Amino acid sequence: MNSGGVVLSPDTAYLNENEIRDAEVKRRQTLMAQVAFTFSGITFVYLVVITALLPGVTPAKVVTLLASLSYGAIGWFCQYRHHYIKCGLGIVFVTLSCAFAASLTNGGLEGYVTPVFIATPIAAALFLNRLATAIATASVIGCFVLQIVLENNGFVSPTIYSPEVVRYAALYMLTFATIACAAGLSYFAQDSNKRFRSLITAHRRLYEMTQTLDHSAHHDPLTGLANRKKLQKELDERLADVRVGAGNLCVFHIDLDKFKEVNDTQGHLVGDGVLQTAAKIMTDHFRKGEMIARIGGDEFIVLKTLSPEDNAADIQESCEKLIKKLRAPMRVMGIECQIGASMGYVYSAAPGTPENLLIGNADIALYEAKRSGGGVAYRFTSVMRQGFEDKIEMIAEIEKALAEDRIECVLQPQVSFATGEIVGAEALCRVNDPEFGLCLPEAFFSYAEDAGVIDRVDWLVMKKALRTLTEVRAQGIKLPCVSLNVSAKSLRSARYASHLNASIKAFGLTASDVVVEVLETLLIQSDTDQAAITIRSLRALGIRVVIDDFGTGQTSLGNLAKLEIDGLKIDRSLVPDVSCARSVRLAKAVLTLSASLDVPAVFEGIETVEQYRLIQEMGCEGVQGFFVGKPMNSAAFIDWCHSYGKSEVHRLNEELVTALGS
Ligand code: C2E
Ligand code: MG
Ligand code: MG
Repeated sequence: MNSGGVVLSPDTAYLNENEIRDAEVKRRQTLMAQVAFTFSGITFVYLVVITALLPGVTPAKVVTLLASLSYGAIGWFCQYRHHYIKCGLGIVFVTLSCAFAASLTNGGLEGYVTPVFIATPIAAALFLNRLATAIATASVIGCFVLQIVLENNGFVSPTIYSPEVVRYAALYMLTFATIACAAGLSYFAQDSNKRFRSLITAHRRLYEMTQTLDHSAHHDPLTGLANRKKLQKELDERLADVRVGAGNLCVFHIDLDKFKEVNDTQGHLVGDGVLQTAAKIMTDHFRKGEMIARIGGDEFIVLKTLSPEDNAADIQESCEKLIKKLRAPMRVMGIECQIGASMGYVYSAAPGTPENLLIGNADIALYEAKRSGGGVAYRFTSVMRQGFEDKIEMIAEIEKALAEDRIECVLQPQVSFATGEIVGAEALCRVNDPEFGLCLPEAFFSYAEDAGVIDRVDWLVMKKALRTLTEVRAQGIKLPCVSLNVSAKSLRSARYASHLNASIKAFGLTASDVVVEVLETLLIQSDTDQAAITIRSLRALGIRVVIDDFGTGQTSLGNLAKLEIDGLKIDRSLVPDVSCARSVRLAKAVLTLSASLDVPAVFEGIETVEQYRLIQEMGCEGVQGFFVGKPMNSAAFIDWCHSYGKSEVHRLNEELVTALGS
């Protein structure tokens, strides 16, 4: 990620401690060597000038040359580690020797050595450590004292130059010494200035990097909202405020409705755009200072600290307003998309709300909002928690039943009015409960969907249904086909049609032996939707597809005309009530509709002889219901088929066939 020109790379962002120490040692050594060479060079030049001005080789000149060479040597020597103290002492020693030797010959305090005296402690202070500086300073002071003592006791050699020449020489030397110190100081100043600037730059980069890292560690890169980590931190802080009596906290859990459809049909780029737009709507809706976090695909959490003016009705109203804003069509990358939202929320001070369960409780309220059909906001109540715990228990039970292979299939017969024959059987799922036998717990499919195992249930029921069909046929019973129910998850799987076809073949059956029942609510208008593709693939393979629970979905008449299907199963809610003329007229209308679509219709949920006679007279093709036969396991179904010829249903059909014939 590039932020403000700082390139973040784990390889270049940081040096480890050893590397930093090595770099520092190397830097000091290089600096030391450079300074020593500079001093050495300056002293050498100075010597050349003095020799030119004051011809002749004197001991003072020789020792000054020695001093100059020793600076260079010491500098070179300093390139090696851990020799700073030795180098410092070396400089001091050479300087003192030179000073002493020079003082014995010529130039004393005001002579050649003075500049070296001045330069030595400064050099030690600048480039060596405190100990070297102290030693150098003490030595120089000692040297001065020694010079004075020697001079006062007549130990200094007679001057070979006139005092005037020596004074000039001293002047030159002082000038050179000053220049040398100034050069050293300016070099040092420049160097430390450079180091300071690079330190500032490094610090700024480090700060920017920390900011970027901190931001990306706590924010969702797509929407820029806080992420789960930041949310938890903020929640803890706000709850701490609540505990000391600073107001109350409301936690909202928002889940976008129909987002998955948009993502699946319009692609992930549009999906991302929808999430960004939704995030913007939420940011605009909530007050500044309220925290909005994206905690997963299309899920958001908002933390709102309540003020005394916020009352329950206002909060509910605000939720509804937000849902309305999110439901409004939005244009993303030139495509008009429509989603919705469901919300669950909870107050931190709500009775029975442990603080650490706040988000969990908002989640439960959201789950209830979703279950009610979505597009609503529910406030958490303790009753909801009970329902949630039941759900968890149920999901565990379903997973256990799957693991223990206790998912079974029962068959419910369908008969034809026209021929009186058994025309098929619907395979229905049952859980084999060790205590209660074959049963289908309430809301089983919605829990299986929540647990993400519904496709496995479909799969097991399908296999067992195909096996039962072969078993029934093996008993000499003419059962033309078996109908399978399919969940949205299976229908949207690109492999469902080919897997079903392979299973049919594996059981030695043909495609015409199977009918797939697709819930009307699963029919989507878009041709490119995977559900529509699966339906087309099934039909291309020769597997018939009928619409289940017809009359409960929202398929428009226009779409109905375009649908290529093989039949309708009219929902139980449309079974005519013999005593209600309107319901009878409605049932007739539905049958007329199926006739216009030119597909056969089967009425399901027929329970009484009156209902049976009524739809028989209306000209419906087939029937399924408790009146004909309840869902049965394989053995019971075989018995039922054997005794069907003597049943009342069969007698009623015979009556009809006879009546039609006469
Ligand atoms: P459905 O496909 O509409 O199945 C018919 C339901 O109506 C069955 O309920 C059946 O027992 C019931 N029924 C049939 N005749 C009568 C009647 O005369 N009176 C009454 N009151 N009910 C009758 P069941 O077995 O509880 O299944 C409920 C729904 O569960 C099914 O509705 C179907 O949508 C779904 N389902 C069942 N098995 C499977 C499966 O293997 N996979 C999937 N995805 N869904 C399944
Ligand atoms: Mg069905
Ligand atoms: Mg049905």
